[in-house]
Amino acid sequence: MKNEIKKVGLVGWPVKHSLSPALHNACFEKLGLSYRYDLYPVPPENLGKEIEKIKDSLAGFNITIPHKERITDFLDESDSSVSQIGAANCAFGKDGRWTGFNTDVSGFLKALRQDFDPYGENAFVLGAGGAARAVSFALARAAAKKIYIYDIEKEKAEKLAARLKKFFPGGLFFAASDFSAVAKCRLLVNATPVGMEKDEIPIDVKFLYNQLYVFDLVYNRKTLLLREAEERGLKCRNGMDMLIYQAAESFRIWTGIYPPVDEMRKAVGRR
Ligand code: NAP
Repeated sequence: MKNEIKKVGLVGWPVKHSLSPALHNACFEKLGLSYRYDLYPVPPENLGKEIEKIKDSLAGFNITIPHKERITDFLDESDSSVSQIGAANCAFGKDGRWTGFNTDVSGFLKALRQDFDPYGENAFVLGAGGAARAVSFALARAAAKKIYIYDIEKEKAEKLAARLKKFFPGGLFFAASDFSAVAKCRLLVNATPVGMEKDEIPIDVKFLYNQLYVFDLVYNRKTLLLREAEERGLKCRNGMDMLIYQAAESFRIWTGIYPPVDEMRKAVGRR
């Protein structure tokens, strides 16, 4: 049908504070594409029931907490990032077949590489949850030298290090028990939600030494970690560009067109 609006959106729980509709709809409008991005709140217990309806009526969708891992059971195939990480944040349907992607991986690398090349560098990742998985696989792909992972549950960090080892047998991955290895690293990534709601910091500031580049995935506010890093003269970046670049890659997967990312920046109030 001519001019039929194709629907895309975000499947998660909760989703109401998401910036994704603003990012995508601004670019659909700018490029005159007949697409619309909406929110699809689906509680965990309803995913199996609702996902088939969603797949029937949407051209593609993003997936967020808590469905990034379980969604792979409902897709027909996955790209290599999803197979390695075990989680998808983007799905695209074509001719009745659905493919999963993980655009957090490319989104993180693109944002990071604006000012730091991880090739041959040691990195320390705080957290071993969904985002940390995308970050550490991205760093392994970019041939970082050693990757240290720290989580309050050390077992989670050990599992992630073992998973990385399985896919990158020559790589050097460690579950850290404390922050001492930060001194051997030039990159520190916060992939925990610490600092998102209030002024909390996931690392003792004495480890913020002057050769460190700090990337904080939190994008909704300037975290205490970034403020402390800046006070010490360290270069750093928040998670907003990662959010924008993962959205841009999803947009490209659905429409075949890479969107004007400056429109996305404008849509979330950054020029
Ligand atoms: P998650 O799955 O809950 O993982 C967070 C992990 O960090 C959990 O394993 C958690 O342990 C651990 N943790 C919590 N406090 C810690 C601490 N003080 N020290 C070390 N580890 C700690 O969350 P996520 O989905 O990975 O998201 C993490 C953050 O990244 C959020 O702020 C999210 O908004 C952000 N994010 C940003 C982007 C972007 O595009 N910028 C994309 C994805 C995610 P427990 O489970 O025991 O609490």
